[in-house]
Amino acid sequence: MKVAFLASEVIPYAKTGGLADVAGALPKFLARLGAEVRVFMPFYREVKAKNLTLRTVINHAAVDLAGERRDYSVVEHKADGFSVYMIVRDEYYDRDGLYGTPAGDYPDNGERFAFFARAALDSMKILGFSPDVIHGHDWQAASAFSYLKFVYADDLFFKDTRSVFTIHNLAYQGVFKKEVLAAAGLPESLFNMNDLEFFGKVNYMKGGILYATAVTTVSPRYSREIQTPEFGCGLDGLLRSRAHALSGILNGVDYADWDPATDRLIPARFSPADLAGKAASKSGLLDMFSLGNSPDAPVAGMVTRLAGQKGVDIVCDALDEIFKLGVTVVILGTGDQKIQDFLKDAKRKYPSRLGLMIAFDEKVAHTIYAGSDLFLIPSRYEPCGLTQMYALKYGTVPVVRATGGLDDTIHEFDASRRSGNGFKFAAATPAALLASLGTALDAYARKDSWSILVRNAMTSDFSWTRSAGEYLTLYHKITDQPSPKRP
Ligand code: ADP
Repeated sequence: MKVAFLASEVIPYAKTGGLADVAGALPKFLARLGAEVRVFMPFYREVKAKNLTLRTVINHAAVDLAGERRDYSVVEHKADGFSVYMIVRDEYYDRDGLYGTPAGDYPDNGERFAFFARAALDSMKILGFSPDVIHGHDWQAASAFSYLKFVYADDLFFKDTRSVFTIHNLAYQGVFKKEVLAAAGLPESLFNMNDLEFFGKVNYMKGGILYATAVTTVSPRYSREIQTPEFGCGLDGLLRSRAHALSGILNGVDYADWDPATDRLIPARFSPADLAGKAASKSGLLDMFSLGNSPDAPVAGMVTRLAGQKGVDIVCDALDEIFKLGVTVVILGTGDQKIQDFLKDAKRKYPSRLGLMIAFDEKVAHTIYAGSDLFLIPSRYEPCGLTQMYALKYGTVPVVRATGGLDDTIHEFDASRRSGNGFKFAAATPAALLASLGTALDAYARKDSWSILVRNAMTSDFSWTRSAGEYLTLYHKITDQPSPKRP
């Protein structure tokens, strides 16, 4: 099974969120199940700065877009079990950010990411890599499906190629002015409501949903939610019409990177059998944020984009009450200026109760997963959510809103049955969050039930092997290849 991944961010090269974790880990696990995977991504400034050992595999190729020749090269990096091909075109990708700056998105994103998809498809031909499946992720890769259908329709090279489009977040659709079609070299006839037109603009994600052989989301519940007006972001009707091709496959965790027993980024190592390092990690976390050291007070962590989706404002509204419950809160995040300002104010008001870092920092993130007792995720919607799965592995108990992948992965703790791995609440309100947090604190106060809960959390298994197996089954189904037997 030959698979070409198209993703705009991939760990460890470039990351702004969960997509990068998935695009870096899933190929590794697919390769372990016998698939040959090649990942295509743009060669950003931040990748350049890493000074990796790269091999130039395509020198000065070009695609003709809108009557103009646009050059690119491709460099290869060998990852664990698969190859990563990076599209080099400095004019597009040698910039400070992946998608924009704090001032906003780059105005030519429509052109930049269409070019990425187009150059990736052409590169496959130049490299002689004829994939059984092209697997594109999110709007940044979605124009690949439009090209396959309308530009490469008669190209024998892709004759037997099938495709999968994975929606990691339906709220980001890649919507641009009509003129982007010409800039992307796509037929202007696609500007109609049955193709890419969307309220007078061009919607890249729509092309992925319409033209890919199969469409997936990153959790089963989210695949159902997005077919409703509440979560459909204007595309629920289209998604319902493709329901037969739509399914949800839960993301996994790469425990090689996320395991407190081996993690070198945390203050001390620990495991379910020996939790001493968890207490040391809590002290380390409190030191890192200068929060004094009262090891018995519960610490609730958050590692999150500061965005409406993540419900950080719900925590902001509940903050006074959370502190009254005796909880110390530690937040690492970047994003929305208003939320930042609120949190900075709160930090001035509660210097010893709130730990705050406005940054994107892997080491601090790992330290929060390891050193907290509780992990707050009050998301309004959550396609899958990785942070709850990471928190679980570090024995940090998630308190989550019951939506999307959070609902699929977190099960309410029941002390009498010794079952469950966290706490969840339904309404996106401070009151609902506080009630659930109160239940969690009751459990925290009882040492015996808390240790059962921590053990349940740490032994919840979301390894990629199972999810990668589900993707492989899907690939076999759409290409009519018999599924290999797996253990
Ligand atoms: P999303 O992709 O919607 O942001 P996910 O839960 O799927 O949410 O993935 C978020 C990923 O980004 C996790 O790996 C999390 O640890 C990481 N992350 C988010 N914010 C930060 C930050 N400020 N610093 C470091 N890592 C972060």
